[in-house]
Amino acid sequence: MPRKPPSKSPETSLQILFCTTESAPFSKVGGLADVSQALPAALTGLGAEVTVITPLYGSINRRDLPDSLKIIAQGTVSLGEYRERSFKILSAAVGSVTIWFVESAEYFARSGIYEDEHGFPFWDNGERYIFFQKVILAMVRRTHFHILHVNDHHTALLPVYLKTEAVKNPPKTVLTIHNIGYQGRYSPDILNLTGLGWAAFYPGGPLEFHGQTNFLKGGIIHADRVTTVSPSYASELLASPEISFGLDGVLRSLKMPLQGILNGVDYQVWSPEQDPLIPAHFSAENTAGKQTNRAALLARSGLPDLPGHALVGIISRLVDSKGFELLIPLEEELMTMPLQWTILGSGETRFEDLFRQWAERYPEKVAYHQGYDAALSHLIEAGADMFLMPSKYEACGLNQIYSLRYGTIPIVRQTGGLADTVQAWNGACGTGFNFQFYSPFALLQAINQALQVFRDKPAWHTLMHNAMSQDFSWERSARAYMEIYQELMK
Ligand code: ADP
Repeated sequence: MPRKPPSKSPETSLQILFCTTESAPFSKVGGLADVSQALPAALTGLGAEVTVITPLYGSINRRDLPDSLKIIAQGTVSLGEYRERSFKILSAAVGSVTIWFVESAEYFARSGIYEDEHGFPFWDNGERYIFFQKVILAMVRRTHFHILHVNDHHTALLPVYLKTEAVKNPPKTVLTIHNIGYQGRYSPDILNLTGLGWAAFYPGGPLEFHGQTNFLKGGIIHADRVTTVSPSYASELLASPEISFGLDGVLRSLKMPLQGILNGVDYQVWSPEQDPLIPAHFSAENTAGKQTNRAALLARSGLPDLPGHALVGIISRLVDSKGFELLIPLEEELMTMPLQWTILGSGETRFEDLFRQWAERYPEKVAYHQGYDAALSHLIEAGADMFLMPSKYEACGLNQIYSLRYGTIPIVRQTGGLADTVQAWNGACGTGFNFQFYSPFALLQAINQALQVFRDKPAWHTLMHNAMSQDFSWERSARAYMEIYQELMK
């Protein structure tokens, strides 16, 4: 297996292996994919050398892969006593970043990322990502990285391996929590596949949680640093067993406190001045093009242009944490208000059914686009007047930040990254509308407030201008990560 020698000395260049199960534009389920695309690139802008390692899923369109892709390594890893699985690493440069795709016929050559075509998680997800981590470990043993940056539970066992197995010059580890709702909880037998043994599995032990495994817990305990993706989410995780799904005590026990670093936005991809996926460009100084996008969005959604109505956009995974249950008791009220809705997303059947029924019952007011559609998501950002995110919890959230840049005023629940990025409108300052209590009534009040301001055109224009002038570029966040890496190298 070829070795990738460090091309520069540690003093001049930090070598980072960024481990992720999603990486845009190749594979994307949620915000992790956007972060895995933008943060490594921003880090290279600060002088680091970054390699991203990610699965080569069957769903990735082979035509989208870089032409320069070539096999740089292959081998096998063992899963338990009897299973030996082969892998290949295909490498290419994507801009300033090197990307390593892990190819495996058994585990990744499927059409879904985490779920099958019926929306059920693959039965062997635990095994798939243990395999992925063992491949990463094999690569770490043969190369030299200073930092291993792992993300969420799918790669959280890597710090455990590096602290418990003999690895020459082990890299330092940073674990970032993007969503603590998913922790890698499986039946204890799965430990047989990890090769880690049972020493860390006992009541209250690093890998045990209420009788199951908990890979994220193991990662939190063994990583050199733990971060999450917004300061408010960090505080909430430390304070609340509900929001931390029971891991608040573990997080409070860390020697180095959990740090919240707000995600940035890749303004190369998300800017109304240059977005190739929208019909008309516009800017904070000249918003005229927004009306063209609005008309295109109404047409694409099959909605009439109802005078005086605000067009509300939603783009989301339709899962419990996103708070759409709050809309259910508000149906009658909302449908009498001067609002139209264009909703893009898929997920739990109860929410898909809800929005499908709304679209059937109120064809002039609601359009529901089921599924995943990157191009439509840009049109919604560009064409809607308002954007709704009533999340129960939200680690950072990206769409509200995209919305700000497109002058699509966010209405958000004041939690996690939503609280850190949207400032309440007070008549002169502010960038959106928020509500605190997780209740339909509080949400309705925020929507009513937004509608009131929407009718006052000069105020709405100021609000749009404020929103569009916000800057959440990645550089500031990348600097915060660089500081952590550099501290770890001391
Ligand atoms: P999460 O990671 O919890 O899903 P984020 O707001 O951090 O939430 O990131 C979601 C990302 O996924 C955004 O870039 C959003 O535009 C995108 N997204 C979610 N659902 C869809 C969809 N149905 N079609 C297109 N993009 C989507």
